[in-house]
Amino acid sequence: MKGLYPGSFDPITIGHLDMIERASKICDELIIVIMKNPNKKYEFTEKERKELIEKCTAHLENVTVEIGEGLTIDYAKNRGCHSIIRGIRAIADYEYELSMATSNMKLNSEIETILLVAKPEYSFLSSSIAKEVAHYGGDLSSFVPEAIVKDIQKRLEK
Ligand code: ADP
Repeated sequence: MKGLYPGSFDPITIGHLDMIERASKICDELIIVIMKNPNKKYEFTEKERKELIEKCTAHLENVTVEIGEGLTIDYAKNRGCHSIIRGIRAIADYEYELSMATSNMKLNSEIETILLVAKPEYSFLSSSIAKEVAHYGGDLSSFVPEAIVKDIQKRLEK
């Protein structure tokens, strides 16, 4: 099974990485794709986000990272993916993820959305919180993967 894990990853967090590690066990091949969400403003460029993800996923042989555009469901089809993987941290994510998954089902019923539940220890974790901690010089080690703590600190600390 070939899976697609789309998101903003601005930047990748420990929560994202846990999802990637778990999804890489379910899928034979997993593509992480950085997609544009028109409702979001990004701190890191797509190229920076791709490099940060690659640094954190170097140990996962069946995982690759791409920069995408257009509709996620079309991207999944064009890349030959059978499923779209997304994560749910709390009830707040559920509504959004459910409407996305249902819309994608309408657009293409061949591609299944798989929703993975976040580990409780990561359910508070978001890229926004990681950026806020970094801006104020806080300890990032519980927020972003060890491999990129210094990169994020250097880039965001004021
Ligand atoms: P998007 O802008 O597409 O929501 P994000 O990078 O914020 O992109 O999130 C990508 C996916 O990862 C979403 O399905 C989100 O619910 C999930 N996710 C985000 N943070 C975590 C976390 N801490 N644990 C598990 N899943 C998460």
